[in-house]
Amino acid sequence: MGETFDVAIIGAGVVGGAIARELSRYKITVALIEKEVDVSFGTSKANSGIIHAGFHSPPGSLKARLAVRGNRAFDLLAEELGFPFERRGELTVAFNDEEAEILRRLYYQGKQNKVQYMELIGKERAFQMEPNLNPDILQALYAPTAGIIGPYEYCFALVENAVENGVELILGEKVKEINPAKSARFYGEGFKIKTEKGLSINSRFIINAAGLYADEIASLVGLNDFRIFPRKGEEYLLDRRVGNLVHRVIFPVPTVKSKGMLVIPTVDGPVMVGPTADDVESKEDYGTTREGLKRVFEHAQKMIPGIRNKDVITSFAGLRPVATGNDFIIGTTKVKHFINAAGIQSPGLTASPAIAEMIRDILLHEGLKLEVKRDFNPIRKPIPRIRRLVEERDFRPVRELVRENPLYSRIVCRCENVTEAEVVDAIRRGHTTMDGIKFASRARTGRCQGGFCTARIIKILQRETGLPLEKITKKGPGSELVRGRLPKGVTV
Ligand SMILES: Cc1cc2nc3c(=O)[nH]c(=O)nc-3n(C[C@H](O)[C@H](O)[C@H](O)COP(=O)(O)OP(=O)(O)OC[C@H]3O[C@@H](n4cnc5c(N)ncnc54)[C@H](O)[C@@H]3O)c2cc1C
Repeated sequence: MGETFDVAIIGAGVVGGAIARELSRYKITVALIEKEVDVSFGTSKANSGIIHAGFHSPPGSLKARLAVRGNRAFDLLAEELGFPFERRGELTVAFNDEEAEILRRLYYQGKQNKVQYMELIGKERAFQMEPNLNPDILQALYAPTAGIIGPYEYCFALVENAVENGVELILGEKVKEINPAKSARFYGEGFKIKTEKGLSINSRFIINAAGLYADEIASLVGLNDFRIFPRKGEEYLLDRRVGNLVHRVIFPVPTVKSKGMLVIPTVDGPVMVGPTADDVESKEDYGTTREGLKRVFEHAQKMIPGIRNKDVITSFAGLRPVATGNDFIIGTTKVKHFINAAGIQSPGLTASPAIAEMIRDILLHEGLKLEVKRDFNPIRKPIPRIRRLVEERDFRPVRELVRENPLYSRIVCRCENVTEAEVVDAIRRGHTTMDGIKFASRARTGRCQGGFCTARIIKILQRETGLPLEKITKKGPGSELVRGRLPKGVTV
């Protein structure tokens, strides 16, 4: 390609996506480069989906400042970009005097961080709010500004809107070399970015938003001043038939390493429990363990005794990119025009809109002219979800959708009530792997985990894209559903 951009963002998770969307407001050229075949396939796909209130991080840290600012941005973002977000609030519960003392410290920490409307509440009030809580709790910290979100829907929405506003999305290209651009004598006068497949991109600025691999990207320009360590979090999703055990996110008092193991309502209905927080060796270690399950349930059942591990329908693990120093690493570097947005561990989802604004301000300070586009369109139409409309008993839009497109009346995924129209919409938006379709439509996320609908989704994908069966993958090359080629004459 050899195209030249003002800014190249490496990594299309929520951080790269939020930066791309923010920069798409201005008259500049922006490339968003991602090694996977879809966006949100890194840490941004495997997290708890909580928009934290912001009292967990130490005052003055980037984590604290940006989480509180990011949290406030979500009402407008959800309205503009049409992704699910609900300000449900969070309760952190204490079981004894020692834990109650920690709650008080968290409360004052939250005050210093400028978290609004927090309250220390007694047992009775906590029970009125959450009748399934363990009756042995002593006290709780209530933070009503916390919310829950569909994390990949948020990421997809950011990137779709950025692309709509002119950002060039480059998927399936792993950055492996960064050199000074041909005409430049130094880094910073311009970079030449090369990918593993041989694509070459020129850019004046680079934003390093490569998540777990941000240290490796920084080392491509000779910066070796931080490292990223993976910290694994296992999460367990319960059957939606268990019902709404909690309305708010329920936290224990935190540990040094993490916010603890939580009980989390999700925007799609089912309750989730987790995550663990274990340092691991490999940046590719996504396995869940029997021991992790045991630990998660011991903690979750202590807070909500009605939770049973027999109700688990699936599990997954995500890796937090923990940087040397434990805070986010955001800012300019010794290499002119090479800017880090690295080490974005939790609460990175919450902080992402504020990180994007901070990067915009750094670019401005570094001399990039940012003139607002007159035709910037902040709106991305929400995607209709038949399940949600039916649950809300909102049947008029359902009838209208079916009249316009009869595929809205054909259920593909019975567990989650996902229609053929929703699967087709996901594919036409560019999600052409089985995981991409799952995250974009929710098909295959229910009790049977695709036992009923996988074959039907493959058929729809083949019809829409013309892909032969042997080219259909779970999440990109190397994860083909069938190995080798089918014998001539065999169809599936
Ligand atoms: C278990 C768990 C629970 C969490 N819960 C919460 C929560 O409830 N609330 C909250 O606020 N935060 C939470 N977090 C943190 C949050 O998920 C992360 O902070 C956030 O997703 C980080 O986003 P990112 O864009 O920096 O990273 P990523 O999503 O990992 O994106 C980085 C991207 O860079 C790409 N990339 C890497 N190398 C290259 C290369 N060489 N070339 C091109 N592309 C490359 C990757 O493929 C990836 O897509 C949680 C994290 C975990 C693990």
